[in-house]
Amino acid sequence: MTTALTTPRLTLSRLHAPTLHTLPHAIAANVERMRSATDAPIMAVVKADGYGLGAVTVALAAIDAGAQWLGVTDAGDAGDLRDAGIEVPILAWLNPAGVDVMQVVADRVDIAVGSVDELRQLIADASSLAGARVRVHLHMDTGMSRGGVPVEDWAELLRVARSGRGRIEVVGVMGHLPCADAADPSANAPAVLRMRQARDAVLRAGFGPLIVHLAATSGALTDPATHFDMVRVGAGLVGIDPSETESLQGAARLTASVVHSSIVPTGTPVGYGGSYVTERASRLSVIGVGYADGIPRELAPGAAVAIDGIRCPIVGRVSMDQIVVDTGELVVPRGTTAVVFGPEGGAVPSVQEWARWAGTIPHTIVTGIGSRVERAIA
Ligand SMILES: *Cc1c(COP(=O)(O)O)cnc(C)c1O
Repeated sequence: MTTALTTPRLTLSRLHAPTLHTLPHAIAANVERMRSATDAPIMAVVKADGYGLGAVTVALAAIDAGAQWLGVTDAGDAGDLRDAGIEVPILAWLNPAGVDVMQVVADRVDIAVGSVDELRQLIADASSLAGARVRVHLHMDTGMSRGGVPVEDWAELLRVARSGRGRIEVVGVMGHLPCADAADPSANAPAVLRMRQARDAVLRAGFGPLIVHLAATSGALTDPATHFDMVRVGAGLVGIDPSETESLQGAARLTASVVHSSIVPTGTPVGYGGSYVTERASRLSVIGVGYADGIPRELAPGAAVAIDGIRCPIVGRVSMDQIVVDTGELVVPRGTTAVVFGPEGGAVPSVQEWARWAGTIPHTIVTGIGSRVERAIA
């Protein structure tokens, strides 16, 4: 059916660049939810720039709500956190290019060591420190074969660690749960057993006291047997529960502006390749955000944004800098804000919905937002 449509009113309201808003109150609420699930101290994991939402912003909100440690991958990331005045202990666990031991001591960063070679290197490097010792967590493989010392190398690791006394101080033992997305304690049992064996081996070798830590978000929420002395929570801070047992609060909102609106007749191809053709006279709006900003290019039908409280489906292919949406009956002036995702529900898609449309996990949606997208704290 062809409806008679009037030309939309085009106003020259101010356009806003695509903006990723971080919502600290949601991060705080998620930390509080974690604290009700465990008595163990919480390490807020702010790797990958705080899952894309700003490491310092996420860290400050989490610490405010009671997180007692921070976790990052690269030791160099700790510098920004210290520069922001953050004083809590920081652990870094992935340093493929080695670490600058002077910097690590100056920034007070604990280093997790995942192989015998890495530990040897660290001890050698630490000889340059006049008396200061590098604080080390021994990262044991608890069943993932992705980083962590395999059980057959533990004896050698501990021998090397003993030889490094005076240059390093072993303060922790860590593992990682391979079934992080399973809300099933029995899936964690082998890793829990391995973790206990690791702790006992390290204690027997004469080290201690130790901070033992294994669980990430999913384990923290679903399996107290994994909590040990600390839980390392990353995804949960920003509202992602890999176990999908909890609805945490989304901590991200992505907005972009309508840059152009038009009415097109039935049978109009839209976007590259004309992969979508209008089935009726349609109101279309172009939004200035595309795959260069992290909008997934491969999307299942149903992918949409919200404009004025109405869900507007994306039509045609996602371009590098723009998408086209069908606004139905809505007349959308240029400059109107579209909400790509956000926590409010209703017409506003969640990060979880975007992950389903893209056939991925919510983590890749939030960490994939491009660098030219402006950042704001809401
Ligand atoms: C990313 C990561 C975490 C946090 O995992 P989430 O599921 O995001 O909470 C914890 N520990 C290690 C070693 C990690 O790499």
